[in-house]
Amino acid sequence: MTELLYHTDAYLQEFDATVTAVLSEERAVILDRTAFYPGGGGQPCDFGSLTINGVIYVVDRVKKQGDDVMHFLGGTSPLPAVGSASHGTLDWVRRYKLMRTHTALHVLCGTVFRDYGALVTGGEMEPLKGRLDFEFETMRGELVREIEVAINKEAQMGREIRVNILPREEAFQIPDLIRTKINLLPEGITHVRTVEIVGLDLQADGGTHVRNTNEVGRIRVSDYKSKGAINKRIYIEVE
Ligand SMILES: [Zn+2]
Repeated sequence: MTELLYHTDAYLQEFDATVTAVLSEERAVILDRTAFYPGGGGQPCDFGSLTINGVIYVVDRVKKQGDDVMHFLGGTSPLPAVGSASHGTLDWVRRYKLMRTHTALHVLCGTVFRDYGALVTGGEMEPLKGRLDFEFETMRGELVREIEVAINKEAQMGREIRVNILPREEAFQIPDLIRTKINLLPEGITHVRTVEIVGLDLQADGGTHVRNTNEVGRIRVSDYKSKGAINKRIYIEVE
């Protein structure tokens, strides 16, 4: 089982860990703890490197497998042994862009729900670009500017972002979480991580976010698409 350091400290750029398993066919290692985000919830995985016994391995893919995080190693250097000490370094420029983008999407989600009552059904992001799908029957082109103004106002307000890890029963008592489909969580999950933009948005979420919306910067609504009478897709870019 890999301890997920990014769950409690999204700003951790370097960390020490021990190799607990080596998968030679996949050229991957499992660590006892990691700051690498393995991807999920629309946020892509981190890149970076692991230094093990003086060898620098490029980490070009990270994936969650059950309770473990697999770090895929590039290059052709011989793989390390189980029990080796490793030092991990994230590609922080990319990760921080993803944190700002992910937070911008929460600002969009919270604002659109508050102002129009529209629910999110899915989303995806890359560094500085993202999109959300809404059940948003009344969405039309004329609303693009209105939404853009509203989300920038929220971001510039400097709203704090709080992360909490709650017992499942406690999380289920929070009415706001129900709309993020918390009820779809598998039975076995005993704790729920929540990400709150204070006064705007609250979600069950495993991703990485900035501490305050003023770190997001300016957000542009770059496009919108109708995917039918109800489903609308809104695209944003973070400058
Ligand atoms: Zn999220």
